[in-house]
Amino acid sequence: MPLPADLDHLIRNDEPLAPYTWLGIGGPARYFAEPTDREELCRLVKAAAESGIPVRMLGEGSNVLVREAGFDGLVINTAAASLSSLDVQGNRLIAGSGAKLAHAITRAIGAGLGGLERLTGIPGSVGGAVVGNASAGGAEIGSVVAAVECVNSDGTVETLERSHIQFGHRKSDLGGRIVLTVHFELEPADATELTRRLQKLWIVRRAARPADQPRISLPFVDPDGADAANLIEQVGLKGTRRGNVSLDSHHAAYLVAHSGATSDEVLELIESVREQVSRQLAVDLQLNLKIW
Ligand SMILES: Cc1cc2nc3c(=O)[nH]c(=O)nc-3n(C[C@H](O)[C@H](O)[C@H](O)COP(=O)(O)OP(=O)(O)OC[C@H]3O[C@@H](n4cnc5c(N)ncnc54)[C@H](O)[C@@H]3O)c2cc1C
Repeated sequence: MPLPADLDHLIRNDEPLAPYTWLGIGGPARYFAEPTDREELCRLVKAAAESGIPVRMLGEGSNVLVREAGFDGLVINTAAASLSSLDVQGNRLIAGSGAKLAHAITRAIGAGLGGLERLTGIPGSVGGAVVGNASAGGAEIGSVVAAVECVNSDGTVETLERSHIQFGHRKSDLGGRIVLTVHFELEPADATELTRRLQKLWIVRRAARPADQPRISLPFVDPDGADAANLIEQVGLKGTRRGNVSLDSHHAAYLVAHSGATSDEVLELIESVREQVSRQLAVDLQLNLKIW
């Protein structure tokens, strides 16, 4: 990659992306980097922009389907310790984008701060959750975001206050940006009570997910006032299998990748669900899953 020589050691060429995603599918990234600190991240972003190389951020890969062709650009993962830090300052939790959402929730509860625990059970990183405005049981992560630090293509860091960020149902206008840290504004609360609430939610949400399948995805957004799982059941597609990909036979909204599954099979199954739901129920099912 045409980068300053002192960044070369950070870049891996033709890195397979499948192991970084929950579905375990897809081809390689032309370039792949795991910067160890914010300075390296900023320099990578700037160098890629100067060379005209597209950049994509990868969190925990729980909401990405990579096509077999892979991605002809630079994929950056912010899982390094200094980009996943969790600091409490007053009622704020300041989280590195690479921090696991589950760790951010536990850290907030430990500090007696409530708000994030309502999102328990959602896999992934803080960056992925905020960009996609992850939500569960009516609680959206965007509602507790106070500010987001992003890296611009010239390598500078910009702080966006909440009033300058648009959050919608499972989306935000941060898509395409590079999220570095997120400042959450939380409410003081009793840590024991928060823990009790978290444990209850965790049990309920675990029970609503396929227990014995590691390679799963939740591809659709629940439409307003409806539930994707119910719609899939109504059109008779619960448990449907296409090649090595199926919809779960108990929890219909989950897509399961079996051994040998391909991205084309995933896309075919998704298209067929959307087509049937649209034809039989006149509902336009939107995708939550990001297709690379
Ligand atoms: C079993 C299961 C249950 C789920 N349950 C829920 C649920 O209840 N509610 C819900 O909302 N979602 C749910 N999801 C979807 C998924 O977990 C969330 O969307 C999650 O927030 C994605 O985070 P991630 O780190 O895995 O993101 P990734 O899959 O790595 O990336 C998703 C998108 O975010 C972008 N991104 C990631 N990090 C950054 C960053 N630092 N800067 C800029 N962009 C970034 C990526 O480029 C990509 O476009 C579920 C998924 C699974 C597999």
